Amino acid sequence: MLTPTKCAICKTPGNSTEIYPPKLAEEAIDEKTFSARRFYGKINHFRIVKCRTCGLLRSDPIIDASLVGKLYAGSVLTYENHIPNIQKTYGRYLKRITKFSPSKERLLEIGCGNGFFLEEALNQGFKEVWGAEPSVEAIAKAAPRVKKNIKLGMFSSSMFPENFFDVICIFQTLEHFVDPAAVLADCRKILKPGGVVLAINHNLDSVPVKIFGEKSPVVDIEHMYLFSAETMKKIFKANGLKTIDAFSVWNRHSLGYLLTLVPFPKALKDFLIKIANSLHIAELPLYLPIGNVGVVGQKG
Ligand SMILES: [Zn+2]
Repeated sequence: MLTPTKCAICKTPGNSTEIYPPKLAEEAIDEKTFSARRFYGKINHFRIVKCRTCGLLRSDPIIDASLVGKLYAGSVLTYENHIPNIQKTYGRYLKRITKFSPSKERLLEIGCGNGFFLEEALNQGFKEVWGAEPSVEAIAKAAPRVKKNIKLGMFSSSMFPENFFDVICIFQTLEHFVDPAAVLADCRKILKPGGVVLAINHNLDSVPVKIFGEKSPVVDIEHMYLFSAETMKKIFKANGLKTIDAFSVWNRHSLGYLLTLVPFPKALKDFLIKIANSLHIAELPLYLPIGNVGVVGQKG
């Protein structure tokens, strides 16, 4: 059963142009087909359309929102080997934005997984760190010093008091919400005046997405929305957040991981990964702008 969607910026149903017709796996949509990142899997996404007014891409129609929550509750961590690199990437941008935040008293990460970034924030001097995460398994794996402050469930402002946080981080998560506008409006509510949201997402305007199109890992069943810097600024503005910084993200990844992401045929990928392993260069860290955009919004 699929439900029609409306644009998260304009709030209009329809009013769109089809970009990709739906490609849904024949098997039932369950935790495994929905949430595990498929390095070698088939292309799997809902029908993707572009809003004629604001240019935002969205999935339309999609499965029911309550089912999305259930699927994430049962999802498992699939990126544990890459955590040290992701932690370094996000840590760099946290340092960059703390100059805008009222203080380093309280930080929230929406979709915090096992809390690895919350640990990074503690290391950078934040006094209190909080998380919201729907996956039971991810929270079970969190370190004791952050686990006690991770709330189980899909994020909502009812989890926290109003005017509470200096910084809210949303990394590769906003696209996964059925209603990203509600998420940002909720962020505004629980931010202190002058508090900032840092969102890092896939960037539709990036070169890899433009080259690989539908074959890019960005076009995926988990992504209800696909943003660019422009549509991120628009959705921030529509929810009372002023964009004060926007940038291309340089992600730190191992060479081996990058090879798993490129949409080459499986045999070629396996061959290249085998070579990288035999030359002992699979763990080589590289900083590349592989297609993420960072946007910082401030509550006025
Ligand atoms: Zn729109």
